[in-house]
Amino acid sequence: MTIAPGTLETLHRIHRQLTDVTSRIAAGPRQIKAAEQAVVKAEQDLVAAKDAYKKTRMASDEKQLQLKQREAKLRDLQGKLNASESNREYQLLKDQIAADQKANSVLTDEILESLELLDQRQADIKTAEGNLVKMKEELVRVKQRVENLRPMLDGELTRVRGDLAVTEQNLPPEFKTDYDRVVKAKGEDALGAVEGDSCGQCSRVLTPQMLNELNLRKPVFCKACGSLLYIPSDD
Ligand SMILES: [Zn+2]
Repeated sequence: MTIAPGTLETLHRIHRQLTDVTSRIAAGPRQIKAAEQAVVKAEQDLVAAKDAYKKTRMASDEKQLQLKQREAKLRDLQGKLNASESNREYQLLKDQIAADQKANSVLTDEILESLELLDQRQADIKTAEGNLVKMKEELVRVKQRVENLRPMLDGELTRVRGDLAVTEQNLPPEFKTDYDRVVKAKGEDALGAVEGDSCGQCSRVLTPQMLNELNLRKPVFCKACGSLLYIPSDD
């Protein structure tokens, strides 16, 4: 049983093309999924940004309310101070007013900070909204691209499978079962070019007898990795 010259090398090339086109077909749904996940992530970011805004807003409102109450209390103390009749009471109220004014000043600073933070949160929402729009547009683009490529890739797949079927007819019929088995197990790595005196797939050094059989165009499998070996035409 001998194999026609060039047959295994051609089969190896076709199997690599087959791997390439099938992986490009499989990449389409993966790219769509990634783009869909990016949209979901952008939606979550927007929800989080709105939530952060709401929390900051509530904290700020709370502080402003607190300040109003404290200012009312301060006015009350001021009234008491004006009406005080003893020095002791006057001094106590004065100290109290000074302490409250200091506390209110701190609170006012905190309110100003919270208002700045609120502006930042508002900007974060705008950014997240813009990003969501972008991700949705990107998803449309990816889907369109995958859809546009698909007929070309399907055509390519049909062509490569056709080439494969035609070339496989050059194999001796009694060898077909062994060939099918190794292709099923290893895909494009089912075939291995001999490099020097080694298997091109796993680098195992071939025996003189194997090289001899290869030169006689007999089917030879690598004893280490099981690839169907061939001597490439440029050697
Ligand atoms: Zn090998």
